[in-house]
Amino acid sequence: MLARTFGCCRYVYNWALRARTDAFFQRGERLSYHQLAVLLTDLKKQEETAWLSEVSSVPLQQALRHLDRAFRNFFEGRAAYPTFHKKHGVQAATYAANAFTWDGKHLTLARMETPLDIHWSRPLPKGCQPTSVTITKDCANRYFVSILVEEEIKHLSGVNKQVGLDLGLKSMVITSDGHTYGNPTFFAQDEKKLGKAQRRHARAKKGSQNRRKAQLKVARIHARIADRRRDSQHKLSTEIIRENQIVCVESLHVKNMVQNHTLAKAISDVGWSEFVRQLAYKAEWYGRTLIKIDTWYPSSKRCFDCGYVLDSLTLDIRSWTCPECGVQHDRDLNAAKNVLAAGLAVSACGEAVRPGAVKTKPGTSPRSRKAHS
Ligand SMILES: [Zn+2]
Repeated sequence: MLARTFGCCRYVYNWALRARTDAFFQRGERLSYHQLAVLLTDLKKQEETAWLSEVSSVPLQQALRHLDRAFRNFFEGRAAYPTFHKKHGVQAATYAANAFTWDGKHLTLARMETPLDIHWSRPLPKGCQPTSVTITKDCANRYFVSILVEEEIKHLSGVNKQVGLDLGLKSMVITSDGHTYGNPTFFAQDEKKLGKAQRRHARAKKGSQNRRKAQLKVARIHARIADRRRDSQHKLSTEIIRENQIVCVESLHVKNMVQNHTLAKAISDVGWSEFVRQLAYKAEWYGRTLIKIDTWYPSSKRCFDCGYVLDSLTLDIRSWTCPECGVQHDRDLNAAKNVLAAGLAVSACGEAVRPGAVKTKPGTSPRSRKAHS
């Protein structure tokens, strides 16, 4: 039933995407969710698509809602134009509250007689009433249930500690008090296996049983890497939020940085943007403050001790000596300290951190600036 529901959701999503695109190009019309819901009822009555009625109608309507969200994200500049869902990609079906029952122990979806056989990763909060349930199947053929509930999360008691974080390349995160966490080479072993599986997949004959098997193997290794990465990010973001009242980070434009191919692997590896996202919502949950510093703030190039800003600092330079005050800096630690200083300045005066007066030294370019902290 799930497989059939996934197929129908995908069909409806793709059909509605096509309908919206055509309506726009042919008639300059913008089809709304409600117009599409009416068209969907007609579609189910047609003989060649009557099989859409074999599954619950709720996930099909939710597929239209998902498309609506995708278009809103597109029109508001947050995402690219929606694309068709593929048969071999991640599959999903969302059930609103009227399409499942929850008795505190068992979850039963519409059109199913028996409850789902779930291995719980953690218990649901006692007495909660789920408002929506999403079932997904990933490319490694694993099924997941995510359940939306409302829960009151208590703030942690305050601590008198603040920290600045910098994205390291040798380590995932380096803090302004000198701690390093996580090592990107954590995945080196998995990546070796992945390379091997990918080569086997590429060699297998197209359309053969072996190729499908090899494909699944590749997907499983990808899934394992993603799981381990997410797991270590969650542990670390929880730890940092628990231990500090104020956390300052640099908001990097990862998209731009990943285009730099020498670095692409290292940066996507450490998954900085996902990590910052976790810090943000956990800070809100637990009553902490997360301060994001804009990318253009020269945290790496600025000497923390005297404020001198270097003209340039290429990524291969791990440590440098300040030409003005002579202090020797570890690149990442110096950056983390600057991030903290800039973040605290923001929280103190409520202003954006802008590089201050231009300070030109004889023989240096006028671009070298002194930033105030
Ligand atoms: Zn200095």
